[in-house]
Amino acid sequence: MNEIPYARQIIDEDDIRAVVEVLRSDMLTTGPKIEEFEGALAEYVGAKHAAAVSSGTAALHAAMFTLGIGPGDEVIVPAITFAATANCVVFMGGRPVFADVDEDTLLIDPGDVERKITARTRAIIAVDYAGQPCDYEALRGIAERRGLALVADGCHALGARYRGRPVGSLADMTVFSFHPVKHITTGEGGMVVTDREDWARRLRMFRTHGITRDPADFSPLTSDLRPPTSGLRPPSSEPSWFYEMVQLGYNYRLTDIQCALGISQLRKLPGWLQRRRELAAAYDDAFAGDERIRPLAVREDVEHAYHLYVVRLGRELDRGEVFRELRRRGIGVNVHYIPVHLHPFYRRRYGTEPGECPVSEDAYEHIISLPMFPSLTRDEVSYVVDIVHDVARDIGGSH
Ligand SMILES: *Cc1c(COP(=O)(O)O)cnc(C)c1O
Repeated sequence: MNEIPYARQIIDEDDIRAVVEVLRSDMLTTGPKIEEFEGALAEYVGAKHAAAVSSGTAALHAAMFTLGIGPGDEVIVPAITFAATANCVVFMGGRPVFADVDEDTLLIDPGDVERKITARTRAIIAVDYAGQPCDYEALRGIAERRGLALVADGCHALGARYRGRPVGSLADMTVFSFHPVKHITTGEGGMVVTDREDWARRLRMFRTHGITRDPADFSPLTSDLRPPTSGLRPPSSEPSWFYEMVQLGYNYRLTDIQCALGISQLRKLPGWLQRRRELAAAYDDAFAGDERIRPLAVREDVEHAYHLYVVRLGRELDRGEVFRELRRRGIGVNVHYIPVHLHPFYRRRYGTEPGECPVSEDAYEHIISLPMFPSLTRDEVSYVVDIVHDVARDIGGSH
């Protein structure tokens, strides 16, 4: 068998046709496909509004901008996540504060969130790690009691549910990524969803340089710059060159080409999710009762989206050795993630150090992500399982 990767996108003829159609049209970017994709995704995740942006990282940045995070503010993030979850706080001049995770699920630990709150804390970013929703009841309770915003980094969890409700409807804002390893792809791409109309407007302004064409947002400072008809409400239908840059924004737009791909991909998401769940169940069965290879725990009240399939290796197994041996045998395993507070940037800038998030740091030594993507076959799962068992036996010694 060829090397089996840990993740792989599916692009079919429908996707290709959808993209080519946009390429043949007049609008390659900022055309009708953006709103169509935003509307379809918002509906799928049970949110009122969505703003498409150029990546999941841009989506996180836009969320922090929208909350008004700035110097002196702290935002609590889990230690086990992709670096971008914390970086977005730094982009705005705020300080990420790392909370530890639950030992069994590796989801942010609400108890530790509570301990890390200070007078400067403004928000919590919950990461639905591997595709499993966090303990939103506990997190919502904390956020409401302490007056904090709750943002969900749902980059792993498009299509997941918590107590019947989809990720996208559980926090004040939820962020998704459409990188090719995620559930659906636009090449690069991201989305922020929210129920708040005022936030949706801020998100859209941020993705296009902080510029507005809506007279409702115009400042009295510019009344002498405007053409006489602009500034009328409702907005005049007369053509106008006028716009204002009211905030410092970026070019974080997603193109129509990409949105067409996203719309086409989203149609296939339900089938792909089902497939991921079947594959996870096959792995679960194969590892049941094996203390050397323990899948992460799944909460009773969730529908997992299985972006990743993560196992925790027994302490008698050296994870580095297992990783090397699996890669040597063509299994594209990976490790998600190096605890973010241990990266040199964070240690230098904020003085974070080992010992701050002991559960995360210990888990990091023992976890490994096995191949998980919808085109993975049952035979390939069996093949992976056999090799994992072989390697565990060879390295750990037979018991
Ligand atoms: C992928 C990912 C991101 C960043 O998304 P990009 O689209 O790659 O910028 C952020 N957070 C988590 C948890 C992710 O997995």
